[in-house]
Amino acid sequence: MRPLKPAEVLPSLPDETDWPARVAHGTPALLAYLDLEQRFRFANDTHSRWLGIEPQQLLGRRLIEVVGRRNHALASAALAHAYAGHRASYEGELYNGGKRRYAHGNFQPDFDADGRVCGIFTALVDITERRTLELQLHESEQRFFGAFQHAAIGMALTHPDGHFLRVNAAVCQMLGYREDELLQLDIASITHPDDITADTALMAQLLAGERESYQLEKRNFHKDGHVVHIQLSVSLVRDEPGAPLYFVSQVQNISQRKAFEDALHRERELAEVTLRSIGDAVITTDRQLCITSLNPIAEAMTGWTGIEAQGRPIEEIFQLFDAQHGHAVANPLRAAIGHNTIVDLAGKTLLRHRHGFDTPVEDSSAPIHDHAGNVIGGVLVFHDVSETRALALKMIHLTQHDTLTGLPNRSQLHDHIGQAIATANRRQQRAALLYIDIDNFKQVNELHGHAAGDRVLCAFAAQLHRCLPGDELLSRYGGDEFVVMLPHLESVGEAASLCQTLINHGEQTRVDGLSELSLRLSIGISVYPDDAIEPDDLLQHAETALVAVKTQGLHGYRFFTASMNERTRARRRIEAALRQALPQHELSLHYQPKVDAQSGRIVGAEALLRWQVDGRELYTPDQFIPVAEDSGLILPIGAWVLRQACRQAQLWQRHGRSIPVSVNVSPLQFQHAEFYNWLDEVLDGSGLAAGLLELELTERMVMSGGDATTGLLQRIKQRGVRLSLDDFGTGYCSLSYLKHFPIDALKIDRMFVRDITSDRDTATITSAIIAMARSLNKEVIAEGVETREQGAFLRRAGCSQLQGFLYGAPMPAAEFQKLLDEPEPHATAPYP
Ligand code: C2E
Ligand code: MG
Ligand code: MG
Repeated sequence: MRPLKPAEVLPSLPDETDWPARVAHGTPALLAYLDLEQRFRFANDTHSRWLGIEPQQLLGRRLIEVVGRRNHALASAALAHAYAGHRASYEGELYNGGKRRYAHGNFQPDFDADGRVCGIFTALVDITERRTLELQLHESEQRFFGAFQHAAIGMALTHPDGHFLRVNAAVCQMLGYREDELLQLDIASITHPDDITADTALMAQLLAGERESYQLEKRNFHKDGHVVHIQLSVSLVRDEPGAPLYFVSQVQNISQRKAFEDALHRERELAEVTLRSIGDAVITTDRQLCITSLNPIAEAMTGWTGIEAQGRPIEEIFQLFDAQHGHAVANPLRAAIGHNTIVDLAGKTLLRHRHGFDTPVEDSSAPIHDHAGNVIGGVLVFHDVSETRALALKMIHLTQHDTLTGLPNRSQLHDHIGQAIATANRRQQRAALLYIDIDNFKQVNELHGHAAGDRVLCAFAAQLHRCLPGDELLSRYGGDEFVVMLPHLESVGEAASLCQTLINHGEQTRVDGLSELSLRLSIGISVYPDDAIEPDDLLQHAETALVAVKTQGLHGYRFFTASMNERTRARRRIEAALRQALPQHELSLHYQPKVDAQSGRIVGAEALLRWQVDGRELYTPDQFIPVAEDSGLILPIGAWVLRQACRQAQLWQRHGRSIPVSVNVSPLQFQHAEFYNWLDEVLDGSGLAAGLLELELTERMVMSGGDATTGLLQRIKQRGVRLSLDDFGTGYCSLSYLKHFPIDALKIDRMFVRDITSDRDTATITSAIIAMARSLNKEVIAEGVETREQGAFLRRAGCSQLQGFLYGAPMPAAEFQKLLDEPEPHATAPYP
């Protein structure tokens, strides 16, 4: 380093300056020396400038006289420390000409040659300004802290790692913890496990700078374990360079609101379920008579879906005409709302369906009130008064309930699962499906006979029912299989303990005359949404879990686990193999005869798809057709079926046997915009007379379609192709509307046929349906006829055609051809 020349550094000051004096007196601090008696021995000139005291006057005076008793007392500890030989410091007030000044003092002991303290150096700096700022800051912090601490809303500061840094009284009170207890915890430890993911994800977004703040409704746990619903508002505080410091959260207890909402939901659900299951049609409107809802029966009777009708004026949806004179009838709901009274429709009126046909109805209209009694809308309840209605309702009951136990059956179960899922989803809760099977039921049947078996099933169902006091839904899934749907599940353990109860009670089932009856149960459980979110998947997973219980040779219950999911894998395998099936010629059609009910002659054939490799059936249609529908493969497959069936029918036609062939059409095909063109092309290509082709559709496909469906049906009909409704009785059952669709025949579902000789209700209703259908000029075909008794009954009841194993199972075309060549009537037919 280059040595500094003094002249370069300090050019303007004279050399003779007395530097120690100049610095001592000019320095901006009070410098003094106190001897052992605390008398001033030196005081610099700053004393005169700051305190107005000449240093000369201080010399020899004691400190206490100069600063006063109070200030001396404040400094005394530091002074004593300094006189004891240590450096000490002190902060306190100074008296300065009537103005309060604040000073920071340093005391440094002075030692004599023997090392004894002989006095102290004192240096006091004026820190009044800094002190004022500090005071202001402190005060504002106090104010803030007060606001934070005593705010009515909960507030918390949390470290980015989730630990609480500060919590106010409201948060402590909300969660039942003391402040020091909460400061030991982090957010995750008090959050409901199902809500952690959402909260953490939002915090991560804040940290990543992807958002400024977030709001979230979540569940925390109170110290005593109960759930507290809170509404959170969170933002992030960063330091100057932008690094995250802490989260600021506002926490509001919304448990009460939630409870209220829950109650409201329950009420609404109840109302919804009631509306959906009620046998009458129900329409609700707002005060201006614009539609707010339609239940399914109202949808079927008006032809409008709830969604389409929403917001439209009532007159557009619900059009009434006088039955006698045909003139329009004023809408009764208008009067009901206008006069705030209930209005029943007098006389005979007709409801005009969207597609133009009329149904005789009876209705009643009433205003809807709010809590204060103001009219806020209206409700219209009506029903079809034609004779078909009573029948249709009975049929719905029959198709939805198991005739033996009276429990909802498989077809209703699907609706129940759907509803339970919707409820659980709205409430952000779990639901569980229990699939119950009696392990040794076959033995009961074998040992005691089927009649006894039936009694056991009834008693067993009643026994299970007694274990289910709440809104759990019990249904019979088939044979000895039952399903319980739990729509609200607080914890998975709840499902387990219910299973144990069901097992304990179910195994105790007793039936008179069967003293040694001892049943064993197995239950498979699937949980929504953990295992699946679709009804079918939930059912399958529970069944998979049931199979797992059984294959272990144990009874008891098990929860579904993903590793059990052989079925899903099987479905994927089916789909992969199915993609190859068509090009590799593994698909073929079998034909099942339909015979004339009177003569027993073969009068038709239903084409049924088969998947065979080397003469062995790989999968049944019930296994692979749903997969084909889900994957869209049904489109190329369905097109192939149509072509193949037409070609076959044309061959028979050329051989002199004009046998109509029916082909099953799935919804996906039917809804395809090109369906008609395909059909037209296939007919042209095969040269088959259109009258020899029949399409089997389902009720749902026909009833739930709009104008487009009706149009398509009409075009197909005009092309000369016959239309029939397959599996009739399992869908909407709206016989009275059916007459308005160009359908030639109804195929009564196997389910009815199965029970006609064993169940009186089924028998009565089936004959009534047949009679009704004939009065509407529809042909009736019975499917699944297996016994002579069934055949005889159906013939007497007026079925025109019969189909079932009794007259021939589905068979390859060549075999069918042989059957055609046999002398008529067909040998196995039950004719005298
Ligand atoms: P479906 O149209 O109701 O066909 C009648 C089913 O009942 C056939 O089952 C037939 O084998 C069976 N069956 C016939 N007689 C009796 C009987 O006396 N007792 C009993 N228990 N069953 C009888 P399959 O062939 O297994 O077909 C099942 C379903 O798969 C059909 O029901 C149909 O919905 C569908 N399917 C079959 N082939 C096709 C097709 O080419 N395309 C479409 N989209 N679906 C098809
Ligand atoms: Mg069919
Ligand atoms: Mg069928």
